[in-house]
Amino acid sequence: MTVSAPPIIIIAIDGGAASGKSTSSKVLAERFHLLHVDTGSFYRGVTAEFLRLGVSATDAPVVVAAAAALRFGTKLHGRSAQMEIGGRVVPDAEIRSRIVNENVSHFAAIPEVRAALLAYQRGQVDVARAHHFRGVVMEGRDIGSVIFPDADFRFFLHADPTERARRRANEGGHDSIAERDRIDSTRKTAPLSCPVGAVSIDTTHLTAAQVVETLAAPVSARLAAR
Ligand code: C5P
Repeated sequence: MTVSAPPIIIIAIDGGAASGKSTSSKVLAERFHLLHVDTGSFYRGVTAEFLRLGVSATDAPVVVAAAAALRFGTKLHGRSAQMEIGGRVVPDAEIRSRIVNENVSHFAAIPEVRAALLAYQRGQVDVARAHHFRGVVMEGRDIGSVIFPDADFRFFLHADPTERARRRANEGGHDSIAERDRIDSTRKTAPLSCPVGAVSIDTTHLTAAQVVETLAAPVSARLAAR
């Protein structure tokens, strides 16, 4: 008798910058033995690569050609998926730099850039399977709407802009999150918005631990029922 592997669980967590996605995704990955996929880091990696090549977001034909030439791979860093471009992991210091903060939303608004990342993001399920994870917790802006609209769980986190600015300032670094959110919410392709049917959670007055428990409760209940 062959015993088939249990189905992979997919948790989609979307929201604006500093809405609480990263902290909670990492804890859920740990708790439920899931691969953690931060798709913001993918857009940041691609942006860093374009900037390294001297490609400007305003030069559409050059961006389209450069996007088509990108070759992606994935390396594991603990439970998190790390993007490789042309066999090189773009270092964290580079993808979190001020110049990337300022440019990432402009590149992310270009449909061909999003298209270049689509299959790669969906392919993270195969990475999870290959490494015997129980599933994937993927955070971003369009995971529940475009990448995995049929995910087992789809959450949308949001918080007051003042509270989000305070959280980001506490983390240090320079990031105009209001400007990124404006560009991300108003772009034509896959704009940041709560997908129909997703569970929307206001994290403004919740601690990080409370956000985690809110997300984890339905997942635990589903797993216990299996
Ligand atoms: O999550 P993080 O703030 O690091 O994302 C950086 C940027 O990448 C976002 O502001 C957005 O422009 C882009 N992004 C996106 N779609 C995703 C994830 C990130 O457009 N799924």
